Amino acid sequence: MCLWLALAAVGATGGGEPVPLAALQQMLGWSSCVERAETIDIGDGTNRLRFFPGMRRAELNGVAVWLNAVAEPAGTSLVNLAAADVERVLLPLFSQPSREPAPLRVMLDPGHGGEDGGASSSAPHLLEKELVLDLALRIGARLETAGMAVGYTRTNDTFLTLSERTALAGAWRADVFVSLHANTAGNRLASGRETYVMPLAGHPPTGAGTLSDRPRAGNGHDRHNTLLGYHIHRQIPGRRHSADRGLRRARFQVLRQAPCPAALIEVGFLSNGREAERLASGWYRARLADAVASGVLEYARHLAADAPGKATSPAPCPPADDVGGTEDGTEDGDEEVKETASDAP
Ligand SMILES: [Zn+2]
Repeated sequence: MCLWLALAAVGATGGGEPVPLAALQQMLGWSSCVERAETIDIGDGTNRLRFFPGMRRAELNGVAVWLNAVAEPAGTSLVNLAAADVERVLLPLFSQPSREPAPLRVMLDPGHGGEDGGASSSAPHLLEKELVLDLALRIGARLETAGMAVGYTRTNDTFLTLSERTALAGAWRADVFVSLHANTAGNRLASGRETYVMPLAGHPPTGAGTLSDRPRAGNGHDRHNTLLGYHIHRQIPGRRHSADRGLRRARFQVLRQAPCPAALIEVGFLSNGREAERLASGWYRARLADAVASGVLEYARHLAADAPGKATSPAPCPPADDVGGTEDGTEDGDEEVKETASDAP
């Protein structure tokens, strides 16, 4: 079945009925299904999608992708999936890209700046605000070479509020917003990269149980948020050397208010000595910049296939009506993730 017919079929269920695994297999045209003690794999010889019954974690071709709802154990159906996850997370990941990327306006957002240094490492001496600015400039140079228009929320050591960052993206008519950060944790063994996009309305952030029913500006781009976040995250190096913390979901302010599809990348932990060493090196920063730029370009190829000849944002953007809201607690401050690797979900 064509994926867009499949999307229509999910929509026809009213958006709320759970989708049995077999129905997803039928939508994708996949016949293989392998059940093990703690996992269920479906695939077609090229792609493999792994579910963990009772968990929100899933894996697409080995890359961790956190669903919005758990894959519910369902007897002979193996698992049932939330219709929203099927429609707005899983099926969009299997759209076919064009050869040429859509020419997008990409706004890069190096986090922190000025009086806000962000996370830090003492040996080697690294400040998050300096690391992510250097990365943003490297990524931007690569994207410009590939024909993208690139904007920056800052190009020097300046402090900007979170609202100013998304407002700049709106004023510049950005098609894509990519925020760059580095992590820190009390547990110095915590490691790995993670990429965040908005949770779907009515679903909790990854690793939390707090629901938010109110759609936010960032929810106007649910399908494209996932596509953008996935293609960036799968490119970022380090899976064999450190934990793949996955494509996750959080209502960080810059994601809630983003006027276009948006992702926030945590490139590694400055509190982990090995990762700080890597992040201090020019060769690793070059690899990271290649990875993020490649991810954005792959997203742009999918967007070109979605809407041929159309280079602008894929969906109209609702107004950002929640500046300074408190409904999401700690996420209002775009707070860095402090959980350790051992207590991560
Ligand atoms: Zn940060």
